[in-house]
Amino acid sequence: MSFFDEKVQDLYDEVVARNPGEVEFHQAVREVFDSLGAVLVKHPHYADAGIIERLCEPERQIIFRVPWVDDTGAVRINRGFRVEFNSALGPYKGGLRFHPSVYLGVIKFLGFEQIFKNALTGLPIGGGKGGSDFDPKGRSDGEIMRFCQSFMTELYRHIGEHTDVPAGDIGVGGREIGYLFGQYKRITNRYESGVLTGKGLSWGGSQVRTEATGYGVVFFVREMLNARGQDLDGKRVVVSGSGNVALYAIEKVHQLGGRVVACSDSGGYVVDDDDGINLELLKEIKGVHRGRVSDYAEKRGAPAYFVSSGSIWDVPTDIAIPCATQNELDSDDAASLIANGCTIVAEGANMPSTPEAIKALSSSGVLFAPGKAANAGGVATSALEMQQNASRDSWSFEHTELRLAQIMRGIHENCLSTADEYGAPGDYVLGANIAGFTHVADAMLALGVI
Ligand code: GLU
Repeated sequence: MSFFDEKVQDLYDEVVARNPGEVEFHQAVREVFDSLGAVLVKHPHYADAGIIERLCEPERQIIFRVPWVDDTGAVRINRGFRVEFNSALGPYKGGLRFHPSVYLGVIKFLGFEQIFKNALTGLPIGGGKGGSDFDPKGRSDGEIMRFCQSFMTELYRHIGEHTDVPAGDIGVGGREIGYLFGQYKRITNRYESGVLTGKGLSWGGSQVRTEATGYGVVFFVREMLNARGQDLDGKRVVVSGSGNVALYAIEKVHQLGGRVVACSDSGGYVVDDDDGINLELLKEIKGVHRGRVSDYAEKRGAPAYFVSSGSIWDVPTDIAIPCATQNELDSDDAASLIANGCTIVAEGANMPSTPEAIKALSSSGVLFAPGKAANAGGVATSALEMQQNASRDSWSFEHTELRLAQIMRGIHENCLSTADEYGAPGDYVLGANIAGFTHVADAMLALGVI
């Protein structure tokens, strides 16, 4: 171990000791730290200024009670979170996740990832994340609205277009952003469009924001292929998940000539290998009826079929795009993908691959794109929404999509050139971590010890 690797190991041990039990946060920190030894060798001044210690300590963490009344009249209590992690590059920016698995460790991992992801976009946004352990599954529209109103009744005092700008994540889409924005507007008596992103198109939202994360990850895959003289035409693709990111990843793969043969939800996965997943049907089932992928298989009929146990990563594919949730792709899954000849894994979700899976894929020569680079299209388009709100303008779909494609190309180039500079050609993990880190670290140095 070099002196700098030892220094990074000591810092990591300190993070674990200071944040007990927050295993997802430890994992996200470890992944970035594994790339930092090389930076410190070249630029030891980052270690001197305490940059790494400061990066691991959120600037502010807010935890609050969210009381609401369900449809039977019973009082329910959930826990709300907003972790304002780093504002060196701009206002805290990042989504809200409503899911029963949410606790401080999940929000901190997401917030930490968001710092580097947002830096990679090259746009002026800091990193933050929030959410609640509220489970929206099976809740009526009225319950969702009351929950969102109660959540915002506390959150409003902490956010603002120049302070902290939340958006959606798992369990928070256009409907929830609407209720949250409505309550913010009512409490503050301000039509402050730039306080939230992911808004509806008729009230301050941006074209392409809904599609952006899914489209963006496929644009990133296109860049990976193009850099090697290939394209998506005729490629088999497996996309896990069937939420917002997955739906629009599937749409873009199909537009670019690839074929998505499987997708999933928490109940299992569906394989539709005939002419690929029928997106219209999937959108209707998931988007309109909030149904399950098992309903898709039933409606579609043979040869499509549903599998309730096992792993979607057993389905043979050229390209894998995990778009469900953290740690959904483990070392066994990686082994299946490798055995079946997969050549690219690009993360649409945040940290969907375990560290062991990433190691296995990389050592077998599978190109691996980490979420902080590959799924940055969502938050990048949120920053474009903020730009439009600030200038009271609204751009066309074509213009916005072109900007998104340019941003994804820029991130891809930045990852590759950084990996080259550090002697690790094609290592997107190293490239993304170092490029994101140095961008934020330089700003932190300029702003002094704060
Ligand atoms: N939740 C998304 C992410 O993980 C988007 C955040 C945003 O648009 O602010 O990047």
